[in-house]
Amino acid sequence: MQNINLLEEIKELKKVKKAIILAHYYQNPEIQMIADYVGDSYQLSKIAKNNDAEVIIFCGVHFMAETAKILSPQKKVILPVKTAGCIMANSITYEELLAFKQEHPDYIIIGYVNTTAKVKTLCDVCVTSSNALKIINHYKGQKILYVPDQNLAKYANYLNQNSDQIEYWDGCCNIHHNLVTGEVKLQKTLHPNAKVLIHPEARLDVLKLADFIGSTKEIIDYVKNSKEKEFIIGTEKGILYALETLNLDKKFYLLSPNLVCRTMKLTTLEDVKNALLETGSKYEEIKLDPKTIELASNALNKMLELSDK
Ligand code: SF4
Repeated sequence: MQNINLLEEIKELKKVKKAIILAHYYQNPEIQMIADYVGDSYQLSKIAKNNDAEVIIFCGVHFMAETAKILSPQKKVILPVKTAGCIMANSITYEELLAFKQEHPDYIIIGYVNTTAKVKTLCDVCVTSSNALKIINHYKGQKILYVPDQNLAKYANYLNQNSDQIEYWDGCCNIHHNLVTGEVKLQKTLHPNAKVLIHPEARLDVLKLADFIGSTKEIIDYVKNSKEKEFIIGTEKGILYALETLNLDKKFYLLSPNLVCRTMKLTTLEDVKNALLETGSKYEEIKLDPKTIELASNALNKMLELSDK
């Protein structure tokens, strides 16, 4: 009953504030349920840019809300829980990347969208897991530093084994990086008919055991279009909500019980309501200086341009 009232309040507040709620697939099911749009980083950045809401409540982690602000500087962007960070985004600082650039001015810097706004200002182009391979290939033949996810870079190098190898930072998402081959083998033994679908932030030895490697959205699309009935899922647990509600006739097994991103799970319905009301101490309105917005948006817009080509 309490939740029903809360849902009604959120709905009403959204109207009054001319707000939309964006939620990442890794959020808790109740947050995905009340969101206007659910997506991965790439989809949500496009939605943030292309809608006419005045306020965006971004249920995700800090760099995602920053990305929405960079692409829509005239909108108010609010992260309901300001402590919701991302280990991968925090694995590289502005100062570290600046030092690299000063020493290696001839490198193209390709930055995963999982970076802070300040780090994005130093990137030539951003990428997400949906478009990284396409964009890396666009710069083939040039010296490339890919930051900060070592695993996606190693996967790109593996696919391009007969051509240029890109250099990379040593960051990672520990949720995906900690997957081990033994877990894949165990799940395959337990569910011999299931297809194994894994996110490219996992290590290469793990990826090599997958039937399909793709971003969150690509995994969802793969399942939707597949005639198979069982799937072992190698990405964050939150994706199960979308998979199960969209595919009632299919079965899903999480590759590891450790596939849970704690910071993605911090946001509650109460936090969303407070963010809409701009009350309490948990929320943060994202504020970025104009120079940061200008430089970071160059890298993000370059991504949107290249990935739509
Ligand atoms: S799942 Fe990994 S990359 Fe995604 S927000 Fe959590 S720590 Fe960051």
